[in-house]
Amino acid sequence: MEHELLRIRDEALAALDACHDDDGLEALRLRFLGRKGELTGVLRGIGELQPEQRRKIGEIANQVKTLVEERMTALRTQWQAEQRARSLAAERIDITIPGNHRPCGSLHPLHQVLDDTIAIFTAMGFEVVRGPDIEDDYHNFAALNIPADHPAREMQDTFFVGPEVVLRTHTSPVQIRTMESRQPPLQIIVPGSVYRVDDDVTHSPMFMQLEGLMVGSDICFAHLKGVLTSFVHAMYGPNTPVRLRPSYFPFTEPSAELDIGCVICGGRKTGCAVCKGSGWMEILGSGMVHPNVFRAVGYDPEKVSGFAFGLGIDRIAMLRYGIDDIRLLYESDLRFLRQF
Ligand SMILES: [Zn+2]
Repeated sequence: MEHELLRIRDEALAALDACHDDDGLEALRLRFLGRKGELTGVLRGIGELQPEQRRKIGEIANQVKTLVEERMTALRTQWQAEQRARSLAAERIDITIPGNHRPCGSLHPLHQVLDDTIAIFTAMGFEVVRGPDIEDDYHNFAALNIPADHPAREMQDTFFVGPEVVLRTHTSPVQIRTMESRQPPLQIIVPGSVYRVDDDVTHSPMFMQLEGLMVGSDICFAHLKGVLTSFVHAMYGPNTPVRLRPSYFPFTEPSAELDIGCVICGGRKTGCAVCKGSGWMEILGSGMVHPNVFRAVGYDPEKVSGFAFGLGIDRIAMLRYGIDDIRLLYESDLRFLRQF
């Protein structure tokens, strides 16, 4: 019997050594340890032995059983560890691989500057008003004191859509439309696109303008200077020098262009290439509303006064970001736009 047990032990261990999967392991368990297994079969005959023999054989049988069970448990543990290592290797994530890039858009530099400009003027009490891009001759020219023989009407400056119909050459017709429909006091800004037959590094056939108009019973030139100086200081910094220079526009009298100290060279006396050596850069046109404009909309120029100004958003943006070619703003080149 002892030999039989040792034979079972050796066979079981040899079989386990050759076993490589759970099914095989279960089959071996049944074959040796199961209710009808070989070891169980030997133990059944143990009752017929003498007590001393019985104890000895029982002891050996238990040792064999424990040994085989331990070997089986060890195999299972080993396989589980190997399986786990395999799946970890298979599911390994390389966190150094770049992720999926989701491109994110942003506001066009013109719109950033437009938003900032609108925010500065609305903070001073101006209201945003808009008007049509296609205008009639009267609102674009005649009502703004631009008579029929004025050079601004020349074919090479204006896009004519039809007889007496144009693409607006400035945002000023919205002044007329607003004053025709409302009574003073008025304090409006008019952002929008305007169109001129012009195309070079500083001119684009379509560009963005912002018009301002303030009308009341006692508006004077000091208000104009105060509002525009506040705008420049908010846009370019509180220490930016400002100067008004006499100019001419048909719809204002007196008229003035507003210069700021060159943002490139800081307005030093010798200037730089951008400000052409002057130390100053022109940023907008302005003036007191011409009495003929008030008459055209039915206001009494003896009772009301006001100022108006117009600035190119493109120019404000070019000076702010140091852009030297206006066409970059309209070409939609992402290599350019991504810099903002
Ligand atoms: Zn300069």
